[in-house]
Order: sequence, then structure tokens, then C-alpha cells
Amino acid sequence: MSAISLRGVVKRYGDVTAVNGLDLTVPTGTCVGLLGPNGAGKSTTMRLLTAQAIADEGSIEILGFTLPQESKAARAQMGVVPQLDNLDTTLTVEQNLLVFTHLYRVGRAERRGAIDRALDIANLQDRRGARVDELSGGMRRRLLIARALVHEPRLVLLDEPTVGLDPQVRQELWALIDRLRSEGASILMSTHYIEEAERLADTVVVVSHGQHVAVGKPSDLVVEHAGREALEVYGPPTRLREVEAAAQGRGWPTRRTGTSVTILRAEGLEGEVPEGERRLANLEDVFVLLTGEEIS
Ligand code: ADP
Repeated sequence: MSAISLRGVVKRYGDVTAVNGLDLTVPTGTCVGLLGPNGAGKSTTMRLLTAQAIADEGSIEILGFTLPQESKAARAQMGVVPQLDNLDTTLTVEQNLLVFTHLYRVGRAERRGAIDRALDIANLQDRRGARVDELSGGMRRRLLIARALVHEPRLVLLDEPTVGLDPQVRQELWALIDRLRSEGASILMSTHYIEEAERLADTVVVVSHGQHVAVGKPSDLVVEHAGREALEVYGPPTRLREVEAAAQGRGWPTRRTGTSVTILRAEGLEGEVPEGERRLANLEDVFVLLTGEEIS
């Protein structure tokens, strides 16, 4: 049984189709990264999984429960880390966790242990008595994750867990998510950061316009879609346009960045190849190729 299984899911808001026939599987005990540009339908998918939104078409199963009918039972075994920080800033770290042990019906005798464990995972033991408004941004994010773990959920949903954070804090959170992974939790994480998906996900599902456009292990996706090597050609815009036209004429896949044209599958290039810098292909190449989006 998969931790999550979505088949042909559609969600419309008026004229906008936010999710448009999405298939998504999270095998038990793995971390799946839902990677897509802004507007791809990631948040809507997360809302469907927590039954904050109801699908117009398709089927959703979580931990063997069918949504939306059995969403309450599914929700009880899930930990959800929202994108927006909705901690109670007037309470302490420990009190925030305590509220959630009640919400998730953790037995009285187990509450203290559950809170300690969550504090430990989030590395917040020495902040347990601090009020949330005294915490740094990174600590608040860690507390949001800890709060989702007090009832030892079998499945954790993380909606853009490091959005807007500086690189150092992002590294801390990655270590935390890595720890969850190593403990065998099933994880679905949405992100528009390629490096985040590449670092943390066993399987990446690339989404664009509400649909899955590629699914696989990050390294497999790179080989499948971008090949092994990329050739970056630099020059003035006129030169880049020439290179692009020549590449297209020969059927070589390319991607454009501000100051260069990148030719993918460069390992297969023979004959008259423009001068450039060779490098290994990466997940960013795949992302741009499949979604047509530049990285901000
Ligand atoms: P992502 O999380 O990948 O950025 P979203 O799921 O937020 O994408 O949005 C997907 C599309 O659905 C966007 O075009 C967005 O404007 C639209 N959308 C999302 N939620 C609503 C809503 N409540 N009402 C109307 N349109 C919405």
C-alpha cells in the first residue's frame, strides 16, 4: 500500500483549473518531492490532501483511507507543516506543542514524552520555555515541523518548507527533514527549489499547469531528459540566437538563460559544436526543459 495515491485528480476554481489530471504516488517510507514553478498547483494539491479542498474529479487515497469521505481518519495519522507560520505567538514553544498533543489526542501519560521527542528532533530543547515571538525565523520553522510530529504521524506533508528562508536556515531544515526520512516516515514535500528536491527527495514529481510532467529519481530524470553533459555557450544576444537556431535545426535540445544558451545531451554532440563550457547536466536543466520556467 502506498502512503499517498492520487489518480486523475482535477480541481477547478471557476475558470482556473489548478490541478488538471494529476497522478501522484508516495511509496511508504520514501520522500517524494512535488517540484514545480509558482502556479503549478502544488498548494492546491496539498489542500486536497488535507481535505481543505475537495477534488472535482479523480481519486485520492491516503494511508488506505479514501478522501474526502475518510479524511478525518487519514488526518489523524498525518503531520502537516503549513507554508504559512500559524504558531500561537503568545504561547511558549512547549505550550504550542501541548495544544497539538490535545488536538491529536495523545494520551495524558504520553504527552511529556511526545513533546520531548518533538523538541529533540527540531533541536529546540533549550528553547522550550521561550515565547514564540522571541524565536528566530529558523527556530519558528523548526517548531512548525516539531508541532506536526507530536503524534508520531505515519505521513508528513511539508508545503514549501524553506520558502523565503536564508541559505543557512535552509540547511538546518534540510538536516531535520533528512532525519525524518532516515527514521522511515513517508514524506510528501512541495517545493519550487530545485536543490531542495534534488537533496531530499527519493522521487521527484515535476508538475506544470496542474499535471505531472515527469516522475523519477532525480539522477534518473537528469539522464532521461537532459543527458549526461550540458554545453553552455556564452556571447552577445545575436550570437546566442545564432547558436539557438543552429541547435534547433539539428534537433539538439537547448535552454536559454540570461547570458548563455545551454545545449543539453552534449555528450552526444559530434562535428561542428560551438565553443562553450562543458558541465554535468543537472535537475535544473530538466526543470527548465519541462516547465519552460526560468529559475528566479
Ligand atoms: P502553486 O502552489 O504551485 O504555486 P497553486 O496551487 O497555489 O500553485 O495555484 C495553482 C493555480 O490555481 C494558480 O493559477 C492559482 O491562481 C489558482 N488558484 C489556487 N487557489 C485558488 C483559489 N482559491 N481560487 C482561485 N484560484 C486559485
